Amino acid sequence: MSYVLEIINVTKKFGEHKAVDAVSFNVEDGGFFSILGGSGCGKTTLLRMISGFEEVTEGELLVRGVSMNGIPPEKRPVNIVFQNLALFPMMNVERNVAFGLQRRKLPRNEVRTRVAEMLERVGLLGFEKKKVTELSGGQRQRVAIARSLVLRPSILLLDEPLGALDRKLREHMKVELKVLQKEIGTTFIYITHDQSEALVMSDRVAVMNEGRFEQIDTPKNLYKNPKTSFVAGFVGESNEFDVVSYNNGVLTTEHGLKIKKSRIDFVPKKLFIRPEAFVLDSPEDLPDVDLVSTKVKTILFDGSNTKISVLIKESNDEVLISFPQNAKFENLQEGDDLQVGIHQDDLKCYRE
Ligand code: ATP
Repeated sequence: MSYVLEIINVTKKFGEHKAVDAVSFNVEDGGFFSILGGSGCGKTTLLRMISGFEEVTEGELLVRGVSMNGIPPEKRPVNIVFQNLALFPMMNVERNVAFGLQRRKLPRNEVRTRVAEMLERVGLLGFEKKKVTELSGGQRQRVAIARSLVLRPSILLLDEPLGALDRKLREHMKVELKVLQKEIGTTFIYITHDQSEALVMSDRVAVMNEGRFEQIDTPKNLYKNPKTSFVAGFVGESNEFDVVSYNNGVLTTEHGLKIKKSRIDFVPKKLFIRPEAFVLDSPEDLPDVDLVSTKVKTILFDGSNTKISVLIKESNDEVLISFPQNAKFENLQEGDDLQVGIHQDDLKCYRE
């Protein structure tokens, strides 16, 4: 297995505060790897250590097997695209993209060929002479990416580059970035606090919390099998309950809701139920399904799914449940009684 990046026990301290706390992980060559976490969890600091703008306090960081300790940013085979893109507004597209190559004093012909190749790859042929101020947000993104990729880095680091775009363009750019990465094959390491960006684009995602990695996994596994309660709560929508006891295969939550769940060998503190863990189709006939009586509070129609917020009668907990479109909901109204089943297999329990 060839790793383009190996991070071994890396810590970054600011005074006594550990912004990154003994993190270890490897990134395979050619993948799209995201670091996902809330504000202040340490993801920018980690990215800055990879790029060389920040020194590592402890541990080691290797790119293609070579230690980066002590190597300045401009000598590292990595490049970074910042959220504000940092393009030169007065220069045209071509000169923005050529900038790094000219600084490296490459022959003029080679610069011209490489810039043209790169502009073709990012779909900007014909835009060479435009000023970046004349481009749309998405086109500017592509110029920033082209300007970094033209230097042929081993790794392209992206620091929330979609953060400044409006929602519609962001949705579009997510797909575009993923496709671009696959076509070009350069390893992308992308940091974001937006779980949907991370899930849509990445081959693997590291979920970061308070300077540490909680789980590194494929987007599907993060969603289906979150290893910690933090990941269960952070990735995807979930109904979260505090558990007060677990006896004879029955979980009792804080407000007195009782739900069957067999095969747990510890007393959980937290219970998570995804909106789609609920079933409506004759739950009486299904094994491993627990029935609860609820009252419909709000019905939210969003095209392909209906989300229903219901109050569980037993405990007065409000939960969100989600179903693919189904004729059964046509006549459902707020205030209706609704029996729902919960799949035992879809209950996730955690010690803390
Ligand atoms: P955000 O999404 O808000 O940018 P982040 O996950 O990128 O957050 P970092 O910027 O890496 O978080 O910061 C992690 C922690 O380290 C924070 O508590 C922050 O205050 C602290 N920190 C970051 N840079 C410095 C610095 N130069 N000096 C002191 N503390 C710092």
